[in-house]
Amino acid sequence: MITDIAAPLVSWYRQHERSFPWREDPSPYRVWVSEIMLQQTRIEAALPYFERFMQALPTVADLAAASEDVLLKLWEGLGYYSRVRNLQKAAQMIMSDFGGELPDTYEQLLTLPGIGEYTAGAIASIAFGKRAAAVDGNVLRVMARLTDDATDVMQPKNRKRLTALVQSIVPEQHPGDFNQGIMELGETVCLPNAQPRCSECPLFDYCAVAGLERARELPTRAKPKQRRVEHRTVFLVVKDGKVLLRRRPPKGLLGGMWELPNMEANYLGDALSDWGIQASFIDRLPDSKHVFSHVEWHMTGYLVKAKRLTLQPDFQLVSKEELAGYALPTAFRTYSDILKEDVL
Ligand code: SF4
Repeated sequence: MITDIAAPLVSWYRQHERSFPWREDPSPYRVWVSEIMLQQTRIEAALPYFERFMQALPTVADLAAASEDVLLKLWEGLGYYSRVRNLQKAAQMIMSDFGGELPDTYEQLLTLPGIGEYTAGAIASIAFGKRAAAVDGNVLRVMARLTDDATDVMQPKNRKRLTALVQSIVPEQHPGDFNQGIMELGETVCLPNAQPRCSECPLFDYCAVAGLERARELPTRAKPKQRRVEHRTVFLVVKDGKVLLRRRPPKGLLGGMWELPNMEANYLGDALSDWGIQASFIDRLPDSKHVFSHVEWHMTGYLVKAKRLTLQPDFQLVSKEELAGYALPTAFRTYSDILKEDVL
């Protein structure tokens, strides 16, 4: 019976769990930060960020009080910056409303910015030993296969049904190990993209499609919508050994971050004069592409040496040394890397 999977899963997890810093010291703060980092980032990529973040901001109070520049710098390269902004908002709420300690119930955790059902379930079960489910894409895949469920797991009603099923199975004892076990199983054994390793699976005897070709066809997902493509022109404007940056508007994509000045559409000479720039030299740079969740930027770049430059609001000239303190989005990496060469 599917409801009997808890014991073999927990015992398998205890033998096979991989060692990560947030598992070795699963304090609520560390579990929370790791879960937020791992939402859109692979574990291997997140590890150095996690260590750096914990060294710089070891407590909720440190996170609540950090400056935006420090915060964005610590997150630079991880993308999806709203995650770190919400982390800080939640830390400030924890300081003002919860006496500086993360709340220990699923319901209270859900009231914090950036914490949805999955993260609330993960923190409540892993850090506080509370009986709550934590259902992410890995868990949905494992559950769809265990129960031979061919409905589209991205549809909210199907997700809800599978979540309710997991909720009914999470044990009173060691709920955190159960949740981590099922996620670990999805990451190392019941692999995505038609690669389940059924012969190594501790749940083989409980699985409706164990060892069958059918396991490879599950879960079913509707095709994602196509991303919108935006053509942008990016300007690497240099003057007197400094580079020109612009602050993005506070709301929307990469809200409030510093960027290389850019515009939608192809290069129009007017943009430079609108930005108070008189160029002495313009050269074409390589094209570049960056994929966000809903939009792709296809970028054309130009190196512009400015003869005269009148700084406009939201623009700033920054030296090579100062640049290290700015968190430029990875979307501009092709162009910001050029600054390492001798163009300033
Ligand atoms: Fe996945 Fe195979 Fe295990 Fe079933 S038996 S849960 S399909 S790895």
